[in-house]
Amino acid sequence: MSTRIASRAPAHIHSLSPYQPGKPISELARETGIPESEIVKLASNENPLGMSPKARAAAVAALEEGARYPDGNAFALKAALARKYGVDEAQLVIGNGSNDVLEIAAQAFLAPDASAVFAQYSFAVYPLATIARGARCIQVPAKNYGHDLDAMFRAIDQSTRIVFIANPNNPTGTFLPGNEIEAFLARVPQDVLVVLDEAYTEFLPTDARYDAIAWVARFPNLLISRTLCKAYGLAGLRIGYGVAHPEVADLMNRVRQPFNASIVAQAAAVAALEDQDFVEKAAENNRRGMAQLTAAFAEMGLEWIPSSGNFVTVRVGDAGKVDQSLLAQGIIVRPIAGYGMPEWLRVSIGLPEENARFIAALRQALA
Ligand SMILES: *Cc1c(COP(=O)(O)O)cnc(C)c1O
Repeated sequence: MSTRIASRAPAHIHSLSPYQPGKPISELARETGIPESEIVKLASNENPLGMSPKARAAAVAALEEGARYPDGNAFALKAALARKYGVDEAQLVIGNGSNDVLEIAAQAFLAPDASAVFAQYSFAVYPLATIARGARCIQVPAKNYGHDLDAMFRAIDQSTRIVFIANPNNPTGTFLPGNEIEAFLARVPQDVLVVLDEAYTEFLPTDARYDAIAWVARFPNLLISRTLCKAYGLAGLRIGYGVAHPEVADLMNRVRQPFNASIVAQAAAVAALEDQDFVEKAAENNRRGMAQLTAAFAEMGLEWIPSSGNFVTVRVGDAGKVDQSLLAQGIIVRPIAGYGMPEWLRVSIGLPEENARFIAALRQALA
């Protein structure tokens, strides 16, 4: 960088590489001339059913109040969450997406002399949030593309203030049974915050479910991060939340931007939380789509990582090349070379016809 001011930014800021989001539909349309309506985007684990009609109605109604600042304490949303999960309002932190909850946790607990532990092939925001605080990343090798909790426990040192665990994990979709996480929590020193990122928890089958929120009473160093952006379909509105011990939530609320969640997002979230039918429909579409995609992968002789999320990661060889072919056919998926997986593509589960278009395009790309 050539300006004097840029050279003055701290070295850890210079060392950051920006998050690489899925390509927007409008961008591919501009680049290829393919009409937006013909493009299929399976790149950002969005909800292919859109949002709940009730959430949409609440969002539209809230627009009327768009000239007002939102309720910085998110009274109605916290009341809805407290009711739904049997927690106290003082245990809640509302985020502008759960990405914000992760950032707020890093702001509250990391400093330049601290470190954060997370797994190889886990969510890109963990190193970003850690490095942005000037803290050190301790990345622990994955086991079968998932978290190796024993190795992560051993990696904790005197400087460690946060352990990030995504369950299910993104971008690999791997899942840790609840009892393994509970045993991990029982071992981790209570002056290390365990951030349990449950962005995809609503997609878990009933028999895999576990109740992490109930653990907060026993583990004051546990922060659960959840989102309404995935199963609830509010990705564009940005809304998520954290559940923790009141002292943890209090510290996080001190660094949180006062109006981080918009009036529209808060209203939509309250309505969405009440529409359980919608979430169940999304989970059902996901189960069917997962079966559709993995059956096609099996037929094509492709390896994939069994996934508990709303996406699946498949080994295609030269993923950069396959991705180019898919894009030319109007299909957007997510190459994950940036995660150190250059032979793999992560594909979000879409509607049945979107999945079918992806499968046909993939066959074409591999032919
Ligand atoms: C998508 C995702 C999030 C955050 O999404 P938001 O849209 O910010 O709520 C957090 N963690 C993981 C693992 C994710 O995949």
